[in-house]
Amino acid sequence: MNTMIHCPKCSSEVLVETPALGNIPLDVCPACSGIWFEKGELEALLRQSQGGGQADLQLIAPKPEGQDCPACKVKMSHGGLVNPLLLVDKCEACGGVWLDARELELVKKLLGLTGGDSVVKVARPSSSPAAAPARDPKLILIKIAAAVGAVAGLVGLSYQMYLYFSPPETVSRTPSLAVAVVSVLLFAGGVLALNWGKEDRWR
Ligand SMILES: [Zn+2]
Ligand SMILES: [Zn+2]
Repeated sequence: MNTMIHCPKCSSEVLVETPALGNIPLDVCPACSGIWFEKGELEALLRQSQGGGQADLQLIAPKPEGQDCPACKVKMSHGGLVNPLLLVDKCEACGGVWLDARELELVKKLLGLTGGDSVVKVARPSSSPAAAPARDPKLILIKIAAAVGAVAGLVGLSYQMYLYFSPPETVSRTPSLAVAVVSVLLFAGGVLALNWGKEDRWR
């Protein structure tokens, strides 16, 4: 089984293997939900469906104008599957069949099969670099402490300014330069710590 099969329709998408349909591991495109059947897999899946006999899956009136085979990269044949009007791509080299999202359902309807699901959705692998990294609980605690520090510093500085700018006879305390300096440092330090994690320095 190939590890990296690209979707013949959405070339940037890598097919995801899933046993969601009839326990046969099929390769499904996460974007268009098309299904890649390696040689024999479509026959096996149809046999698993209720009343599935031996269906003739030779293409009807095949023309060499299909998409590129996702496995061998050669041009697939484009022709009718079960019915001349249901046009699909089949690789003559490896025997694989590509079905668009709803084509499996049509194949089953044409064969009079009713059992099992016909459409499967897969998610892209979560190991992609775009996935969000797990949040470190320690970092969250540090952030909370930084936020509390910044707010405390701001409150302290505001109080000192209130004391400083108010007429001396209306306030009971005199402004303290030391408290003001500590407040400024607390505020600046808190804001700095809050922004630190964003630059990935603590990850
Ligand atoms: Zn696709
Ligand atoms: Zn092929």
